[in-house]
Amino acid sequence: MTGLPAPGPEADRDLPLDAHLHTNLSHDSDVPIDVYCASAVARGIPEIAITDHVDFDPRAPDHSFASFATREREVRDAAARWADRGLRVRFGIEVTYESHLETDIREHLARHPYDYAIGSVHVMAYSPYVGGRVAGWVAGRTFDEIVAPYFAEVQAAIRSELFDTIGHLDYVKKYLVDHVPPSAFAARPDVYEPLLRALVETGTALEVNASGLRQPPGETYPAPPIVEQFRALGGLRVTAGSDAHRAGSFAFGLGHAYAALAAAGFESLAFRRRAGDPRAGASVEVPDRVLGRPREPNERGYPSL
Ligand SMILES: [Zn+2]
Ligand SMILES: [Zn+2]
Repeated sequence: MTGLPAPGPEADRDLPLDAHLHTNLSHDSDVPIDVYCASAVARGIPEIAITDHVDFDPRAPDHSFASFATREREVRDAAARWADRGLRVRFGIEVTYESHLETDIREHLARHPYDYAIGSVHVMAYSPYVGGRVAGWVAGRTFDEIVAPYFAEVQAAIRSELFDTIGHLDYVKKYLVDHVPPSAFAARPDVYEPLLRALVETGTALEVNASGLRQPPGETYPAPPIVEQFRALGGLRVTAGSDAHRAGSFAFGLGHAYAALAAAGFESLAFRRRAGDPRAGASVEVPDRVLGRPREPNERGYPSL
């Protein structure tokens, strides 16, 4: 589609922003924040958002893994340490959205100042999509019935209007891959349409999450045609992130995520920053090389497409 090399250091560099990263303050990541900061500088990615997990179900591992104060201090201190190397580090959050916990989520976000908030539907231990249960769940059910619980929660997350963006819109593809292939999702744009319309109506951004490129589905969440569908429905706000949980996944697939946005006609990303930050209102431009424009003189040496 893009002419980009396969995901990796050659394709995933000289991009303006990786807006979805987990440090060792998420239970499922082992990456110290400075490792991401060093990678970002080395890759020519001048802005990153740390979006560690916060779960609201007391049974979930990220319910009380790291306090707000700890997470905020870690990110703000790193931002100060790396500022003179031209890196901007934003303090974000990835909330696990569950509709029955919406009041708690709303209260938390109202009381705690984040630069950027992602709302994501995850597959929890009691979900029908977990390993031991998924085969029984799909047996005898139609595609619509299979995906309904996941997509209904995503719809509720969007309609809550609590989030700047919705993370990995169709992450359930990962859990269904042995039963319902990504091509079955691609064949059903009508199932996505209510979600995309809700994003447009609420002004919530669509995230193109590159983690699916390193996971069994082998494509972004959502896939490029859904990004095009979003644009066609009037979508204006998009973001992109690698959703790294390991050092080697930093920015992985990000070049392809930006290429999907560019192919759909997006030339900039919607990214909220801290109130009072001089760059808070500045947009994040998709680089010309990703848009397929000719190189300009004195450019920073972007690799050719
Ligand atoms: Zn997530
Ligand atoms: Zn994540």
